[in-house]
Amino acid sequence: MLTTPAEHHLVLLGGGHSHLAVLRRWAMRPQPGVRLTVVARELHTPYSGMLPGLVAGHYDFDDVHVDLGPLAVAAGARLIHDEVAGLDAAGKRLHFADRPSLRYDTLSVNSGATPSVRGIAGDVDSLRLVKPISRFLPGFDAVCTRLASAAAPIDIVVVGGGPGGVELVLALAHRLTRTGLRDRARLALASASARLLAGHGQAVARAMLSELQHARVSVLSGAEVVAVESGVLVCADGSRLAADETFWVTGVEAPRWTRESGLAVDAAGFIEVGPTLQSVSHDDVFAAGDVAALGFAPRPKSGVFAVRAGEVLARNLPAWIRGERLRRFRPQRRALYLISTGNRRAIVSRPGVPSLRGSWVWRWKDAIDRRFMRRYQDLPPMHEAPRRSVVAASRGGQRLAQGMRCRGCGGKVAVSPLAAALGQAGIGADRHFEDAAELPVAGQVLHQTIDGFPLPVSDPYLGGRLAALHALGDLYAMGAEPVAALALAGIPYAREALMAEDLAALMAGAERELRQAGCALLGGHSCESETISLGLALTGRVADADAGADADTDANRALRKDRLQPGQALVLTKPLGTGALLAGSASGQIPSRHVEAALASMLLSNGPALAQLRRFEATACTDVTGFGLLGHALEMAAASGCALELQTSRITALPGALEAIAAGVVSSLQDANEDSLEHAELAFGLNPADPELRLLCDPQTCGGLLFSLPDTAADTCVAALRDAGYTAAAVVGRAVPARPGTRPLRILSEAS
Ligand SMILES: Cc1cc2nc3c(=O)[nH]c(=O)nc-3n(C[C@H](O)[C@H](O)[C@H](O)COP(=O)(O)OP(=O)(O)OC[C@H]3O[C@@H](n4cnc5c(N)ncnc54)[C@H](O)[C@@H]3O)c2cc1C
Repeated sequence: MLTTPAEHHLVLLGGGHSHLAVLRRWAMRPQPGVRLTVVARELHTPYSGMLPGLVAGHYDFDDVHVDLGPLAVAAGARLIHDEVAGLDAAGKRLHFADRPSLRYDTLSVNSGATPSVRGIAGDVDSLRLVKPISRFLPGFDAVCTRLASAAAPIDIVVVGGGPGGVELVLALAHRLTRTGLRDRARLALASASARLLAGHGQAVARAMLSELQHARVSVLSGAEVVAVESGVLVCADGSRLAADETFWVTGVEAPRWTRESGLAVDAAGFIEVGPTLQSVSHDDVFAAGDVAALGFAPRPKSGVFAVRAGEVLARNLPAWIRGERLRRFRPQRRALYLISTGNRRAIVSRPGVPSLRGSWVWRWKDAIDRRFMRRYQDLPPMHEAPRRSVVAASRGGQRLAQGMRCRGCGGKVAVSPLAAALGQAGIGADRHFEDAAELPVAGQVLHQTIDGFPLPVSDPYLGGRLAALHALGDLYAMGAEPVAALALAGIPYAREALMAEDLAALMAGAERELRQAGCALLGGHSCESETISLGLALTGRVADADAGADADTDANRALRKDRLQPGQALVLTKPLGTGALLAGSASGQIPSRHVEAALASMLLSNGPALAQLRRFEATACTDVTGFGLLGHALEMAAASGCALELQTSRITALPGALEAIAAGVVSSLQDANEDSLEHAELAFGLNPADPELRLLCDPQTCGGLLFSLPDTAADTCVAALRDAGYTAAAVVGRAVPARPGTRPLRILSEAS
């Protein structure tokens, strides 16, 4: 596919309500020549209007959250899942705690704000801030758990008399009633202002007071909390409120980095923008939502304005880059609020409109909110449908699989074409290849390997880390400690500065993992390529530091595929499923939480496992990568002249992997890998179409180690691996003598 080289880098900081609109519009109208990157601390953006419904139990997590992963894919945007720690407006850079800075040409900030605890004395950390929601929700669950086991009623105070605080306490009351816990909590709402809902009409406040009374919530007006003590909130007038748990839903404050950014900010640190949503000091920076200060038309911090601003921002960002005229943002003067009261009822608040309330208002609100969510859940198709090949079968046409090809290890050449090609080239048709080549040099054996792929993720830094970990896996599989690396990086053609930025991020990611592994990056080469790719040639040694350099000792210590012995147990250190999950991630078909779990598994180095392999006297090992568990297990069996038994019930799948495979979301290498099943004898009841069986053919990127060791040591070794962080480590099978006329692999479903 031809892509337009990137000339301009637009970075979206935060995945807030306004940026959702930007991403959606970008998906429908991509801007050739513009690289779009979204940086977000959380991959799920909660839709503010539905949050109280989540707390009340009317919605589940996915009902009220927009998943930024599929949205970014639809927009063709790179996604960096990290927290920005600093912004240098003069240098046009975002800074992070744990990764290289990111340069932008145009920046848009929609990073929200958090309830302010400025000036509050005492144990502020004990307060449960309502934002960020990703931290609030586990805290809320902890309170529910505490209530469930509470012997006597506990005092829960919600601090904040605005719509957020009122909705939260009523939602909480409803949830506790529904779950039979209401009598275990005394609920109170503390508000610094003299009356609730200060920005709303008197009638609305009165109606809300009657709802609070009905829900048995004590309302404490004029209670300005200034200090937190153990189990007590101290107010400015000296009064003390019993509070075993406190939810903090007060006015918000800006993040610290806005003040230090060099951008013009208001007294509270919010970025001052003009009507075009551009910073009043830096026209290459836009801001919207809670983080922006609308000096030209001040409004309360509220999601309704962030949503409206998104429509303008979505048009202004491309227009700015194209050098066209910008639109002006006109925030609603009389915004409509439908404030929920927890019990599937809501109250209308709009200047000049009577404070109507009832369940019909909630249904109306529910319909509006769900319509909003559908905009981001039913995304426009990502690519045009590919056209069918014109080649007739008689002219070699094969109806090759259409659509996207996988990256990472899913982008490897399959077993049979690889073997055929090596045979044709006269390279080792009659021998097996180990994970690394053994090279005798000056009385010792060096291990050398090369591995690489087009990055399976859009973030070059993360991709660099994965490529390094993946390549290192080959050395660890041989029992070798890495010593030195050379890199070959492929970077898509773009404006010079953008290519340099890509290369720097890619190499910084790789270097991080190589350094961690004690492996020196000695040099390399770069070239232009269609997508970002990284290959690493690594050198390692199996030498035992105590034994000194000796070629025979080195050779004996190597963990080779051909050292499997009948009777040994087979252990796998990591779960399977990265192939399907990466394929689903690249096509936007997998929820981000599953992609995150897969990435966490991939980022777990195989290095520390090696110490356990040594300790428990493993003899044979390979890393499970592109050919899937079955392909690599078969290689071991063939090299050792053994047969293998594998038990599917012992093999762990990454969350979402089996569902993805069942739904047909698989790597483009899957079908070829399933040829391995021809060499397997399936126990009664197993079917090659079972997702559990297909999982065994899923190509792994940064997969785990598959190794053999004495049967008697297997359980202790697995326990040690789990303690070391390989929580899915398990004995997955055993080696048995090969019997003539039978297949080398037997797959069982239950432990026998
Ligand atoms: C209980 C409750 C109920 C509410 N109900 C309503 C309502 O009914 N209607 C209404 O209009 N408003 C409501 N609000 C207010 C509303 O939640 C906020 O005004 C709104 O969320 C602000 O949206 P935003 O787009 O500015 O940012 P947010 O939606 O907060 O999004 C911020 C984004 O930035 C990311 N981010 C933050 N910091 C960083 C960083 N340093 N680096 C990288 N990424 C970062 C986050 O991960 C997230 O993606 C409610 C608030 C609460 C607490």
